[in-house]
Amino acid sequence: MGIWLRRSIWSVALGLITAWLVAWGITIASWNDWLDLSSPLSGRGTGLASHWLINIMHRERPCYEWGYWSGQRIDLPTTKPSLIKKAERIGEIRGGAYAVEDRIPSAGVSTIKRIDEKVSEFPPPELEGLIALVETDGFSFDYWKIGWPKPMLMARGGFIIDSVGNKPFPSRIYEGSIEISAMKRPPIPGGPLESLRLPYLPVWPAVIANTAVFGGSWFALFTGVAALRSLRRRMAGQCSRCGYDLKRVVGKTCPECGRTSR
Ligand SMILES: [Zn+2]
Repeated sequence: MGIWLRRSIWSVALGLITAWLVAWGITIASWNDWLDLSSPLSGRGTGLASHWLINIMHRERPCYEWGYWSGQRIDLPTTKPSLIKKAERIGEIRGGAYAVEDRIPSAGVSTIKRIDEKVSEFPPPELEGLIALVETDGFSFDYWKIGWPKPMLMARGGFIIDSVGNKPFPSRIYEGSIEISAMKRPPIPGGPLESLRLPYLPVWPAVIANTAVFGGSWFALFTGVAALRSLRRRMAGQCSRCGYDLKRVVGKTCPECGRTSR
């Protein structure tokens, strides 16, 4: 195998590992109040490093993306018009949709179908089961992506909104993340403790882009180190490829490795 091919394969492998570790590193850092990327300039983490990180990674190069959609099942005879209005407003949230029964004139079948599509493309199976159980409650799904330069690892979650308050509140369901229960903190000041979660669902275009960035850096490093070693050997009178001492060798060919010309 040629040296350039071997160097390229190593660069891609190390580039992917580096990109992955950077994404998880940002996740761990953002779990620290000091470097909280999800609530920039919120009063917490107002140190210089935090501002620098937010500017570099959050604003100019968004390393964190978060989105959600939520829906509500509405039974027309028992639902106030204001709640229907609210459901329609929820539908306007970016990436959002709302679930309504087809008895509501303003909704229609297309809305129901849209919800079903959303549920199937967002597949925590336990949550689908819970949605089948609830008749009048709502549900909320969210996702977050993290990584640098592009958000490349995704995790998802969801929960049931018990609007009536007559059912036990099911706990939140997570998908695509490793729970680090040793690191807990309240995500909202004063809120309940939550574990750190490391996302692992790959966002392929971003994975490829980040691997190219870090892999390119590894490739440049390997090439630079090799060029320096070759230069140092030549200056010391050695073969630039294998390091054999050529001071007493007549001719231009290394007797050790066969390389011609010093
Ligand atoms: Zn040699």
